Amino acid sequence: MTLLTSWVQSANTDQSPFPLNNLPYGVFSTRGLDPRCGVAIGDMILDLAAVEEAGLIDLPSGPVFDVPFWNEVMEQGADVWAQLRQRLTSLLSADAADQDLLRPHLVAQSDAQMHMPFLVSEFTDFYASRDHATNVGTMFRGAENALPPNWLHIPIGYNGRASSVVVSGTDITRPNGQIKPPHADAPSFGPCQRLDIELELGAVVGGANPLGQPVSVQEADDMIFGYVLLNDWSARDIQAWEYQPLGPFQAKAFATSISPWIVTKAALAPFRKPTPVREQALLPYLQEPGPMLYDIDLSVSMAPAGQAATTISRTNYDVMYYSAAQQIAHHASSGCAMNVGDLIGSGTISGSERTARGSLLEMCWGGKDPLTLDTGEQRTFIEDGDTLTLTGAAHGDGYQIGFGTCVGTIKPAVPFGA
Ligand code: MN
Repeated sequence: MTLLTSWVQSANTDQSPFPLNNLPYGVFSTRGLDPRCGVAIGDMILDLAAVEEAGLIDLPSGPVFDVPFWNEVMEQGADVWAQLRQRLTSLLSADAADQDLLRPHLVAQSDAQMHMPFLVSEFTDFYASRDHATNVGTMFRGAENALPPNWLHIPIGYNGRASSVVVSGTDITRPNGQIKPPHADAPSFGPCQRLDIELELGAVVGGANPLGQPVSVQEADDMIFGYVLLNDWSARDIQAWEYQPLGPFQAKAFATSISPWIVTKAALAPFRKPTPVREQALLPYLQEPGPMLYDIDLSVSMAPAGQAATTISRTNYDVMYYSAAQQIAHHASSGCAMNVGDLIGSGTISGSERTARGSLLEMCWGGKDPLTLDTGEQRTFIEDGDTLTLTGAAHGDGYQIGFGTCVGTIKPAVPFGA
Protein backbone atom coordinates (compact mmCIF):
# COMPACT_ATOMS: atom_id res chain seq x y z
CA MET A 1 0.00 0.00 0.00
CA THR A 2 1.25 3.49 -0.88
CA LEU A 3 -0.25 6.98 -0.56
CA LEU A 4 -3.64 7.28 -2.27
CA THR A 5 -4.01 10.78 -3.70
CA SER A 6 -6.99 13.05 -3.17
CA TRP A 7 -8.21 16.24 -4.83
CA VAL A 8 -7.95 17.73 -1.30
CA GLN A 9 -4.29 18.66 -1.69
CA SER A 10 -3.40 18.87 2.01
CA ALA A 11 -4.04 15.12 2.27
CA ASN A 12 -1.30 14.25 -0.23
CA THR A 13 1.73 14.23 2.02
CA ASP A 14 3.32 11.81 4.44
CA GLN A 15 3.07 14.59 7.03
CA SER A 16 -0.74 14.50 7.05
CA PRO A 17 -2.31 12.22 9.65
CA PHE A 18 -5.42 12.04 7.46
CA PRO A 19 -4.61 11.02 3.86
CA LEU A 20 -7.18 9.30 1.63
CA ASN A 21 -5.91 5.97 3.02
CA ASN A 22 -7.23 6.90 6.47
CA LEU A 23 -10.72 8.51 6.35
CA PRO A 24 -11.40 8.60 10.11
CA TYR A 25 -14.90 9.38 11.39
CA GLY A 26 -15.78 12.14 13.83
CA VAL A 27 -18.50 14.52 15.01
CA PHE A 28 -17.89 18.24 14.57
CA SER A 29 -19.65 21.58 14.77
CA THR A 30 -18.94 25.02 13.40
CA ARG A 31 -20.58 28.32 14.20
CA GLY A 32 -24.11 28.03 12.90
CA LEU A 33 -24.08 24.26 12.42
CA ASP A 34 -25.15 21.69 15.01
CA PRO A 35 -22.81 18.74 15.72
CA ARG A 36 -22.93 16.23 12.87
CA CYS A 37 -20.90 13.43 11.33
CA GLY A 38 -17.84 14.17 9.23
CA VAL A 39 -14.79 12.48 7.79
CA ALA A 40 -11.28 13.96 8.02
CA ILE A 41 -9.30 14.46 4.81
CA GLY A 42 -6.01 16.37 5.05
CA ASP A 43 -6.62 19.49 7.11
CA MET A 44 -10.33 19.53 6.19
CA ILE A 45 -13.53 17.78 7.27
CA LEU A 46 -16.09 16.63 4.73
CA ASP A 47 -19.55 17.41 6.16
CA LEU A 48 -21.33 14.12 5.62
CA ALA A 49 -24.74 15.42 6.69
CA ALA A 50 -24.55 17.95 3.84
CA VAL A 51 -23.17 15.39 1.38
CA GLU A 52 -26.01 13.05 2.29
CA GLU A 53 -28.58 15.81 1.87
CA ALA A 54 -27.12 16.58 -1.55
CA GLY A 55 -27.77 12.96 -2.53
CA LEU A 56 -24.11 12.04 -2.99
CA ILE A 57 -24.16 9.32 -0.32
CA ASP A 58 -27.13 7.06 0.20
CA LEU A 59 -26.91 4.31 2.81
CA PRO A 60 -29.55 1.54 2.79
CA SER A 61 -30.97 2.71 6.13
CA GLY A 62 -31.74 6.25 4.95
CA PRO A 63 -30.17 9.36 6.51
CA VAL A 64 -27.68 8.69 9.31
CA PHE A 65 -25.20 11.59 9.34
CA ASP A 66 -27.20 14.58 10.62
CA VAL A 67 -26.80 13.36 14.20
CA PRO A 68 -24.02 13.83 16.77
CA PHE A 69 -22.85 10.19 16.86
CA TRP A 70 -21.74 7.32 14.60
CA ASN A 71 -23.76 4.60 16.35
CA GLU A 72 -26.39 4.45 13.59
CA VAL A 73 -23.72 3.65 11.02
CA MET A 74 -22.11 1.07 13.30
CA GLU A 75 -25.47 -0.67 13.82
CA GLN A 76 -25.75 -1.40 10.10
CA GLY A 77 -22.86 -3.82 10.13
CA ALA A 78 -19.68 -4.60 8.27
CA ASP A 79 -21.12 -4.65 4.73
CA VAL A 80 -22.37 -1.09 5.10
CA TRP A 81 -19.08 -0.01 6.74
CA ALA A 82 -17.26 -1.31 3.65
CA GLN A 83 -19.73 0.33 1.24
CA LEU A 84 -19.36 3.67 2.97
CA ARG A 85 -15.57 3.53 2.94
CA GLN A 86 -15.57 2.62 -0.74
CA ARG A 87 -17.95 5.49 -1.56
CA LEU A 88 -15.90 8.04 0.40
CA THR A 89 -12.67 6.82 -1.21
CA SER A 90 -14.25 7.29 -4.62
CA LEU A 91 -15.70 10.74 -3.82
CA LEU A 92 -12.40 12.07 -2.45
CA SER A 93 -9.91 10.45 -4.83
CA ALA A 94 -7.83 12.66 -7.14
CA ASP A 95 -9.83 11.69 -10.23
CA ALA A 96 -13.30 12.02 -8.64
CA ALA A 97 -16.02 13.46 -10.86
CA ASP A 98 -18.03 15.34 -8.22
CA GLN A 99 -15.33 17.64 -6.82
CA ASP A 100 -17.27 20.83 -7.56
CA LEU A 101 -20.36 19.49 -5.83
CA LEU A 102 -18.36 18.39 -2.77
CA ARG A 103 -16.04 21.36 -2.34
CA PRO A 104 -18.69 23.58 -0.64
CA HIS A 105 -19.11 20.87 2.01
CA LEU A 106 -15.50 20.96 3.18
CA VAL A 107 -14.85 22.65 6.53
CA ALA A 108 -11.39 23.57 7.79
CA GLN A 109 -10.50 21.52 10.87
CA SER A 110 -9.16 24.75 12.39
CA ASP A 111 -12.71 26.22 12.21
CA ALA A 112 -14.42 23.20 13.74
CA GLN A 113 -15.03 22.05 17.27
CA MET A 114 -14.82 18.30 17.78
CA HIS A 115 -17.30 16.37 19.92
CA MET A 116 -17.60 12.81 21.22
CA PRO A 117 -17.68 10.68 18.05
CA PHE A 118 -20.12 8.10 19.39
CA LEU A 119 -22.47 7.42 22.28
CA VAL A 120 -20.49 5.25 24.68
CA SER A 121 -22.68 2.36 25.71
CA GLU A 122 -20.34 0.95 28.34
CA PHE A 123 -16.63 1.26 29.07
CA THR A 124 -14.42 -1.66 30.06
CA ASP A 125 -10.71 -1.29 30.70
CA PHE A 126 -8.06 -4.01 30.57
CA TYR A 127 -4.54 -4.65 31.87
CA ALA A 128 -2.76 -6.27 28.95
CA SER A 129 0.81 -4.98 28.68
CA ARG A 130 3.20 -7.38 30.37
CA ASP A 131 5.74 -4.69 31.22
CA HIS A 132 3.02 -2.46 32.68
CA ALA A 133 1.55 -5.28 34.78
CA THR A 134 5.02 -6.29 35.97
CA ASN A 135 6.01 -2.72 36.86
CA VAL A 136 2.78 -1.88 38.70
CA GLY A 137 2.68 -5.27 40.40
CA THR A 138 6.25 -4.80 41.64
CA MET A 139 5.41 -1.39 43.12
CA PHE A 140 2.07 -2.41 44.69
CA ARG A 141 2.85 -5.96 45.83
CA GLY A 142 6.60 -6.56 45.50
CA ALA A 143 8.69 -8.24 42.78
CA GLU A 144 7.83 -11.78 43.90
CA ASN A 145 4.08 -11.14 43.42
CA ALA A 146 4.36 -8.76 40.46
CA LEU A 147 2.52 -10.70 37.78
CA PRO A 148 -0.65 -12.24 39.24
CA PRO A 149 -0.98 -16.01 38.65
CA ASN A 150 -3.96 -15.51 36.33
CA TRP A 151 -2.30 -12.87 34.11
CA LEU A 152 -0.84 -15.21 31.47
CA HIS A 153 -4.22 -16.96 31.11
CA ILE A 154 -6.92 -14.27 31.33
CA PRO A 155 -7.19 -10.79 29.84
CA ILE A 156 -7.76 -9.02 33.19
CA GLY A 157 -10.20 -6.12 33.17
CA TYR A 158 -12.74 -4.15 35.15
CA ASN A 159 -16.05 -2.56 34.25
CA GLY A 160 -15.54 1.20 34.08
CA ARG A 161 -17.90 4.12 33.64
CA ALA A 162 -19.30 5.38 30.33
CA SER A 163 -20.55 8.54 32.06
CA SER A 164 -17.07 10.01 32.47
CA VAL A 165 -15.67 9.33 28.98
CA VAL A 166 -14.93 12.73 27.42
CA VAL A 167 -13.55 13.95 24.12
CA SER A 168 -10.04 15.31 23.73
CA GLY A 169 -9.82 18.97 24.75
CA THR A 170 -12.14 18.61 27.73
CA ASP A 171 -10.54 19.90 30.93
CA ILE A 172 -10.06 17.30 33.66
CA THR A 173 -10.84 18.19 37.26
CA ARG A 174 -8.47 16.70 39.80
CA PRO A 175 -10.52 14.17 41.77
CA ASN A 176 -11.05 14.14 45.51
CA GLY A 177 -10.99 10.84 47.28
CA GLN A 178 -10.14 8.72 50.24
CA ILE A 179 -6.39 8.40 50.70
CA LYS A 180 -4.29 6.53 53.22
CA PRO A 181 -0.53 6.88 52.83
CA PRO A 182 1.35 3.78 54.07
CA HIS A 183 2.54 5.50 57.27
CA ALA A 184 -0.86 6.98 58.19
CA ASP A 185 -3.06 5.37 60.85
CA ALA A 186 -6.34 6.32 59.20
CA PRO A 187 -7.52 7.55 55.80
CA SER A 188 -8.28 11.18 55.01
CA PHE A 189 -10.39 12.73 52.26
CA GLY A 190 -9.04 15.33 49.85
CA PRO A 191 -7.53 16.09 46.44
CA CYS A 192 -5.57 13.31 44.74
CA GLN A 193 -1.81 13.88 45.21
CA ARG A 194 -0.70 11.23 42.69
CA LEU A 195 -2.59 12.04 39.52
CA ASP A 196 -1.49 10.03 36.50
CA ILE A 197 -2.18 9.15 32.89
CA GLU A 198 -2.55 5.80 31.20
CA LEU A 199 -1.60 5.67 27.52
CA GLU A 200 -4.07 3.31 25.88
CA LEU A 201 -5.83 2.48 22.66
CA GLY A 202 -9.64 2.20 22.76
CA ALA A 203 -11.48 -0.28 20.56
CA VAL A 204 -14.94 0.89 19.47
CA VAL A 205 -17.37 -2.02 19.30
CA GLY A 206 -19.72 -1.74 16.31
CA GLY A 207 -21.49 -5.10 16.64
CA ALA A 208 -23.42 -6.89 19.35
CA ASN A 209 -23.93 -10.38 20.75
CA PRO A 210 -27.15 -11.42 22.46
CA LEU A 211 -27.07 -12.04 26.21
CA GLY A 212 -26.03 -15.63 26.84
CA GLN A 213 -24.24 -16.11 23.52
CA PRO A 214 -20.43 -15.93 23.53
CA VAL A 215 -18.36 -14.92 20.48
CA SER A 216 -15.16 -16.36 19.03
CA VAL A 217 -12.02 -14.24 18.75
CA GLN A 218 -12.66 -13.94 14.99
CA GLU A 219 -16.25 -12.83 15.60
CA ALA A 220 -14.98 -10.34 18.17
CA ASP A 221 -12.51 -8.88 15.66
CA ASP A 222 -15.33 -8.61 13.12
CA MET A 223 -17.37 -6.62 15.67
CA ILE A 224 -14.71 -3.90 16.02
CA PHE A 225 -15.59 -0.72 14.10
CA GLY A 226 -12.38 1.18 14.81
CA TYR A 227 -9.92 2.54 17.34
CA VAL A 228 -9.25 5.80 19.22
CA LEU A 229 -6.47 7.01 21.49
CA LEU A 230 -7.52 6.71 25.12
CA ASN A 231 -6.14 8.31 28.28
CA ASP A 232 -7.40 6.45 31.33
CA TRP A 233 -6.66 9.16 33.92
CA SER A 234 -5.80 7.50 37.23
CA ALA A 235 -5.57 8.62 40.86
CA ARG A 236 -2.80 6.38 42.20
CA ASP A 237 -3.18 7.23 45.88
CA ILE A 238 -6.94 6.60 45.78
CA GLN A 239 -6.28 3.40 43.80
CA ALA A 240 -3.69 2.03 46.26
CA TRP A 241 -6.14 2.30 49.18
CA GLU A 242 -9.33 1.13 47.48
CA TYR A 243 -8.31 -1.51 44.94
CA GLN A 244 -8.32 -4.70 46.99
CA PRO A 245 -10.27 -6.93 46.65
CA LEU A 246 -12.53 -5.69 43.81
CA GLY A 247 -10.17 -3.56 41.71
CA PRO A 248 -10.18 0.12 40.77
CA PHE A 249 -13.31 2.15 41.54
CA GLN A 250 -13.15 5.92 42.17
CA ALA A 251 -9.46 6.02 41.17
CA LYS A 252 -10.48 5.65 37.54
CA ALA A 253 -14.11 6.77 37.52
CA PHE A 254 -13.57 10.55 37.28
CA ALA A 255 -12.42 10.88 33.65
CA THR A 256 -11.32 8.98 30.57
CA SER A 257 -10.36 11.03 27.50
CA ILE A 258 -10.56 9.78 23.90
CA SER A 259 -9.34 11.26 20.63
CA PRO A 260 -12.13 12.66 18.41
CA TRP A 261 -11.46 10.60 15.26
CA ILE A 262 -12.41 6.93 15.02
CA VAL A 263 -9.72 5.32 12.86
CA THR A 264 -11.41 2.41 11.16
CA LYS A 265 -10.23 -1.17 11.33
CA ALA A 266 -10.17 -1.09 7.52
CA ALA A 267 -7.65 1.78 7.46
CA LEU A 268 -5.40 -0.09 9.89
CA ALA A 269 -5.54 -3.40 7.98
CA PRO A 270 -2.04 -3.08 6.41
CA PHE A 271 -0.54 -2.72 9.90
CA ARG A 272 -1.83 -5.89 11.57
CA LYS A 273 0.66 -7.73 13.79
CA PRO A 274 0.41 -10.91 15.84
CA THR A 275 0.41 -11.00 19.63
CA PRO A 276 3.70 -12.32 21.11
CA VAL A 277 4.68 -15.94 21.53
CA ARG A 278 2.86 -17.35 24.55
CA GLU A 279 4.73 -18.38 27.64
CA GLN A 280 1.69 -20.49 28.57
CA ALA A 281 -0.67 -21.74 25.88
CA LEU A 282 -3.99 -19.91 25.92
CA LEU A 283 -7.23 -21.80 26.31
CA PRO A 284 -8.78 -22.47 22.90
CA TYR A 285 -11.49 -19.78 23.17
CA LEU A 286 -8.75 -17.10 23.42
CA GLN A 287 -6.52 -18.25 20.58
CA GLU A 288 -6.22 -15.87 17.64
CA PRO A 289 -6.87 -17.15 14.11
CA GLY A 290 -4.75 -14.31 12.67
CA PRO A 291 -2.84 -11.15 13.60
CA MET A 292 -5.09 -8.80 15.60
CA LEU A 293 -2.68 -6.27 17.10
CA TYR A 294 -1.42 -3.30 15.07
CA ASP A 295 1.90 -1.55 14.50
CA ILE A 296 0.93 1.90 15.83
CA ASP A 297 3.57 4.33 17.09
CA LEU A 298 2.41 6.16 20.21
CA SER A 299 3.79 9.03 22.24
CA VAL A 300 2.98 11.13 25.29
CA SER A 301 3.93 14.75 25.93
CA MET A 302 3.59 16.93 29.00
CA ALA A 303 3.41 20.73 29.15
CA PRO A 304 3.29 22.82 32.34
CA ALA A 305 0.80 25.71 32.14
CA GLY A 306 1.81 28.19 29.44
CA GLN A 307 5.00 26.33 28.58
CA ALA A 308 6.37 24.12 25.83
CA ALA A 309 5.62 20.40 25.78
CA THR A 310 8.21 17.69 26.40
CA THR A 311 7.83 14.23 24.90
CA ILE A 312 8.03 11.89 27.89
CA SER A 313 7.30 8.50 26.30
CA ARG A 314 7.35 6.69 22.96
CA THR A 315 6.06 3.17 22.50
CA ASN A 316 4.02 0.97 20.15
CA TYR A 317 0.70 -0.84 20.47
CA ASP A 318 2.38 -4.03 19.21
CA VAL A 319 3.87 -4.71 22.67
CA MET A 320 0.50 -5.84 24.03
CA TYR A 321 0.00 -9.44 25.21
CA TYR A 322 -3.74 -9.51 24.41
CA SER A 323 -5.53 -7.92 21.44
CA ALA A 324 -8.87 -6.13 21.66
CA ALA A 325 -10.45 -9.10 19.87
CA GLN A 326 -9.20 -11.45 22.59
CA GLN A 327 -10.43 -9.07 25.27
CA ILE A 328 -13.90 -8.86 23.71
CA ALA A 329 -14.08 -12.65 23.27
CA HIS A 330 -13.14 -13.06 26.93
CA HIS A 331 -15.63 -10.36 27.97
CA ALA A 332 -18.46 -12.20 26.19
CA SER A 333 -17.31 -15.69 27.21
CA SER A 334 -19.65 -15.81 30.22
CA GLY A 335 -22.54 -14.77 28.01
CA CYS A 336 -22.13 -11.07 28.77
CA ALA A 337 -23.73 -9.05 25.97
CA MET A 338 -21.54 -6.59 24.09
CA ASN A 339 -23.34 -3.64 22.55
CA VAL A 340 -22.86 -1.20 19.70
CA GLY A 341 -20.94 1.70 21.21
CA ASP A 342 -19.03 -0.27 23.82
CA LEU A 343 -15.55 1.11 24.44
CA ILE A 344 -12.77 -1.35 25.27
CA GLY A 345 -9.59 0.13 26.79
CA SER A 346 -6.46 -1.82 25.83
CA GLY A 347 -4.83 -1.28 29.19
CA THR A 348 -1.75 0.89 29.67
CA ILE A 349 0.71 0.38 26.83
CA SER A 350 4.24 0.13 28.24
CA GLY A 351 7.38 -1.13 26.53
CA SER A 352 10.36 -2.40 28.45
CA GLU A 353 12.45 0.81 28.50
CA ARG A 354 11.77 3.69 30.89
CA THR A 355 11.24 5.95 27.86
CA ALA A 356 8.54 3.57 26.56
CA ARG A 357 6.33 3.45 29.65
CA GLY A 358 2.70 4.51 29.45
CA SER A 359 2.19 5.98 32.93
CA LEU A 360 4.04 8.39 35.21
CA LEU A 361 3.73 5.81 37.99
CA GLU A 362 6.11 3.61 36.00
CA MET A 363 8.30 6.35 34.47
CA CYS A 364 9.01 7.84 37.93
CA TRP A 365 8.74 4.54 39.81
CA GLY A 366 6.04 5.54 42.26
CA GLY A 367 7.39 9.06 42.78
CA LYS A 368 10.98 8.02 43.55
CA ASP A 369 12.66 9.04 40.28
CA PRO A 370 11.43 12.41 38.91
CA LEU A 371 11.30 13.33 35.23
CA THR A 372 13.05 16.52 34.20
CA LEU A 373 11.11 18.34 31.47
CA ASP A 374 12.74 20.44 28.75
CA THR A 375 11.58 23.52 30.70
CA GLY A 376 13.78 22.39 33.62
CA GLU A 377 10.79 21.59 35.81
CA GLN A 378 10.55 18.22 37.50
CA ARG A 379 7.51 15.99 37.81
CA THR A 380 6.66 12.72 39.48
CA PHE A 381 2.89 13.09 38.99
CA ILE A 382 0.64 15.66 37.28
CA GLU A 383 0.26 19.17 38.70
CA ASP A 384 -2.69 21.53 38.21
CA GLY A 385 -2.40 23.36 34.88
CA ASP A 386 -0.36 20.61 33.21
CA THR A 387 -1.49 19.50 29.76
CA LEU A 388 -1.00 15.88 28.71
CA THR A 389 -1.18 14.91 25.04
CA LEU A 390 -1.26 11.45 23.47
CA THR A 391 -0.50 11.02 19.78
CA GLY A 392 -0.51 7.98 17.55
CA ALA A 393 0.04 6.93 13.95
CA ALA A 394 0.72 3.82 11.89
CA HIS A 395 3.49 4.53 9.37
CA GLY A 396 3.23 3.13 5.84
CA ASP A 397 5.21 3.67 2.66
CA GLY A 398 4.93 7.44 2.09
CA TYR A 399 1.80 7.86 4.20
CA GLN A 400 0.53 7.52 7.74
CA ILE A 401 -2.71 6.50 9.36
CA GLY A 402 -2.86 9.15 12.09
CA PHE A 403 -5.09 9.26 15.14
CA GLY A 404 -4.58 12.97 15.79
CA THR A 405 -4.23 13.87 19.45
CA CYS A 406 -5.91 13.16 22.77
CA VAL A 407 -5.41 16.19 25.02
CA GLY A 408 -6.42 17.09 28.56
CA THR A 409 -5.49 19.90 30.98
CA ILE A 410 -5.81 19.45 34.72
CA LYS A 411 -7.94 21.88 36.73
CA PRO A 412 -7.78 22.13 40.55
CA ALA A 413 -9.98 19.87 42.66
CA VAL A 414 -13.33 21.25 43.75
CA PRO A 415 -13.50 22.09 47.48
CA PHE A 416 -15.46 19.20 48.99
CA GLY A 417 -15.63 17.07 52.06
CA ALA A 418 -13.64 19.27 54.46
MN1 MN B 1 -6.31 1.72 32.34
